[in-house]
This record gives sequence, structure tokens and C-alpha cells, in this order.
Amino acid sequence: MKTDVQVAVIGGGIVGASVLYWLAKMGWTDSVLLERRELTSGSTWHAAGNTTYFGPYPAMTPLFAGSIRTYLQAESESGQSVSFHQTGSLRLAATPRELELFHVYESRYAELGIPFHIRTPQEVAELHPLIQTDQIFGAAHTPTDGHVDPTNTTHALAKAARGMGAEIQRHCPVKALHRDGTHWILETDKGSVLAQHVVIAASFWARELLAPLGLNLPLYATQHHEIITENIPELEGLDHEVPAWRDSYSSCNVRQEAQGVLAGVYETEPKFWALDGIPKDFKEDLFPPELDRLMPHLERLIERMPSFAEAGIKQTNNGAMCFTPDGLPMLGPMPEQEGLWLATGFNVGIGTGGGSGEFLAHWMTQGQPLFDLKAVHADRFGNDMTTEEALKQIRAVYARGYQMPDSI
Ligand SMILES: Cc1cc2nc3c(=O)[nH]c(=O)nc-3n(C[C@H](O)[C@H](O)[C@H](O)COP(=O)(O)OP(=O)(O)OC[C@H]3O[C@@H](n4cnc5c(N)ncnc54)[C@H](O)[C@@H]3O)c2cc1C
Repeated sequence: MKTDVQVAVIGGGIVGASVLYWLAKMGWTDSVLLERRELTSGSTWHAAGNTTYFGPYPAMTPLFAGSIRTYLQAESESGQSVSFHQTGSLRLAATPRELELFHVYESRYAELGIPFHIRTPQEVAELHPLIQTDQIFGAAHTPTDGHVDPTNTTHALAKAARGMGAEIQRHCPVKALHRDGTHWILETDKGSVLAQHVVIAASFWARELLAPLGLNLPLYATQHHEIITENIPELEGLDHEVPAWRDSYSSCNVRQEAQGVLAGVYETEPKFWALDGIPKDFKEDLFPPELDRLMPHLERLIERMPSFAEAGIKQTNNGAMCFTPDGLPMLGPMPEQEGLWLATGFNVGIGTGGGSGEFLAHWMTQGQPLFDLKAVHADRFGNDMTTEEALKQIRAVYARGYQMPDSI
């Protein structure tokens, strides 16, 4: 194991793998990634893999766009498929105001070179025969996004990074870290690692890992459900995959999964997990499903897509998902902690992890971020937010689901 490196990355989910990959691309190959268990064993393994380009904050769109680009690049460099399904996505307009806002986005997407179309309800019906369009006002359509396999993608990034000289140590939890002169020292069961820079890509574990340094990161875990159905006859008859769709009315995202669909739900009252500390023996665990809590949203989903009610439920994954008080990740250097960088707090880490790795690696190797995006800076919450305040804000941001902001 490398024990004296330029950079150590803690955490082998999609974000840590992406940071390691991009650092290596930018010439920092004297690196090691330390993972507590296996790669992807946090939230990444059970994610739906959606990588849409559409988000309520256009400033974030380059991170989404950079992600698909990164994953396809890692695929071609590593030979490991990321299983990209380019289905495109529809954001349904549940109100005339939403449709108006979608029009405002058009120029932003044009600037970024991302195909973006406003569709009429009739066009939506042609694109997605399962959607009831009589209650919608149209949709924003991004035809070139879709979904990837998050585990394959993490492995593609890891393999490509290794190919450039980076090292990955699995089953190597970092027990503690502290600064000693010009270096960080990371304590593991395999020995100490000296690093000039440390990147914390440890999702909700980062809160406990950095608390001994006097840092108070407002990172908490919520439970998040996805439901996979049995085959739907109309989909079995198609020769292509239908686009993914999302809307504020149901607060759900729905994409095709084999010949059925996979639905993710943002319920009005999120359920937190492990507020007293992440259990030391947490593995690739899922929580028992709680479909009753989701019913108001599933009923609305069924209004939008009646065939969901007819298909049996094949599988339910209720997994842990990290949240920050504003729902955005924490990226960048920590003040007064020289060489300490954050890449944590992701709740859309598949959609943004690839681009975030590039964003952070650029900042670390070139001295400035790839572009100006203060909304994600690691130090924006200060150090004094109480748990009560953080949970209050997370509840609000989680419940907002796919609602659009009042203005852009
Ligand atoms: C049901 C569900 C569906 C989802 N669907 C989507 C989706 O469709 N699209 C999307 O963009 N996002 C989705 N997400 C969210 C997505 O899973 C996360 O945003 C993403 O996986 C976060 O990646 P990460 O690398 O930050 O964290 P993780 O994948 O949690 O990785 C963190 C890693 O750090 C390791 N670690 C922690 N502490 C230490 C330590 N001390 N030493 C060494 N290693 C350590 C952990 O073992 C873990 O492997 C979904 C989440 C859930 C729950």
C-alpha cells in the first residue's frame, strides 16, 4: 500500500471514484483511495442510476452534463461498460407556471449545447404512451440523458484511475485523521498514510469522521425508496425504451427498468436514519419498506401513469441517502484546514458525481474550480448549525421534491 502520497481520497462510492479518476487525468497519480468495505458499498450500489440533465438550478447543469461525459469517457478508457441507457427524460409541467419556467431554461441549455425541447401534451403522449397527458401542460424534454448502472460506472472510473497509476485499498476504513506539520496522517488497520491532500468522499460518514477536528458538517442520512414493478404489457410490445419522467405533482421519478418501471419517491415527511451515529456494523443494508408513507405520492403517480397500478411490485429498495440543509453537495477546500477537501453531501451523486470529480480535481490541481459555482462550496454552512436547524431545512428541501423554484 502507498503510505506517503500527494492525495488520499476517503470513500469509494461513485463520488470518490470520480475524484480519484479526474485527479489522475489531471496528472495527480500519486494517490490512494481508501474504502471501508467494497467499492459502492454506501448509497451507490442501490441507486437507480438516473443521470438527467434537468435540474431546478441551471447553475448546476454543467455538473450533470459533465457526469455523463465522464462516465462514457471512463467506459472507453477502461473497457468496463457503464450501461448507459440514453432514454432521454421528461419533466412534466403540472401547472402553466412550470411550463413558463421551462421556457426560461431553453437559452441556458442552448448555451451549454444540451438538446432541450418544450413538448406539448400530445407530443408527450407520442414519446411516452403510458403517461396520461390530460392533466399536464407540456414537458421539458432532454433527449440525450438517461441512466447508468452505478456499480459498473464506479468500477469503470476506478479501473481507469488505476490504469493511470492511482491505487485503491478496499476493506481499509480510515479510523482517524489529523494534520502533522505539512501532512495529513490517516490511521488505518493497514498502517498510517501520509498525504499532502485529503479528499473526504465519505457521504454521511463524513460528519463523524471530521467531528474530532472541530468541524460540524450538517450531513444527515434519510431513508429513500425506489419501487420496481413486474413487466408492463405495453412496454413489452415496444422496440425501444421510453423516456424517464418526473413531476412535482407526484414528487416521483419514473424510468423504465427491463420491461417494467422503477419509481423513486420524495415523500412529504422524510424519515431520518442514524441520528445518534452511523452503526459501526452498517454494511450494504436496506431498511424495511414503508409503502404506507408513500401512498399519497403513489396515488398521484398512478393518476399520471395508470399502468403502474396494474403491474405487481417486484422489488422495493429503501436505502440511506445523504442530505445537506439545502440539498446540494459540499465541494471544495475547508477553511483553516490546509489540504483538506470535501466531496460529500450528495443526494444526486450519480447524476452529478462525474462532473463534480472534474470540478474538484480542477480546483485542487489548477488552484481554482472549473467554473464559478458558489452554491456548492464546502464552507457555506459555517460551523455552528445545530442538528435541529439542519433537520428542519432538510425536511423542507426533501419535501419540495420536484417542485420548481418560484423564480430562476
Ligand atoms: C433508493 C435510492 C435511489 C437513488 N437513486 C439515485 C439516482 O437515480 N440518481 C442519483 O443521482 N442518485 C440517486 N441516489 C443517491 C445516490 O445513491 C447518492 O447520491 C450517491 O450514491 C452518493 O455517492 P457517494 O460516493 O457520495 O456516497 P456513497 O456511495 O455512500 O460512498 C461513500 C463511501 O465512503 C465509504 N466510507 C465511509 N466512511 C469511511 C471511512 N472512514 N474510511 C473509508 N471509507 C469510508 C463508505 O463505505 C462508502 O462506500 C439514490 C439513493 C437511494 C437511497
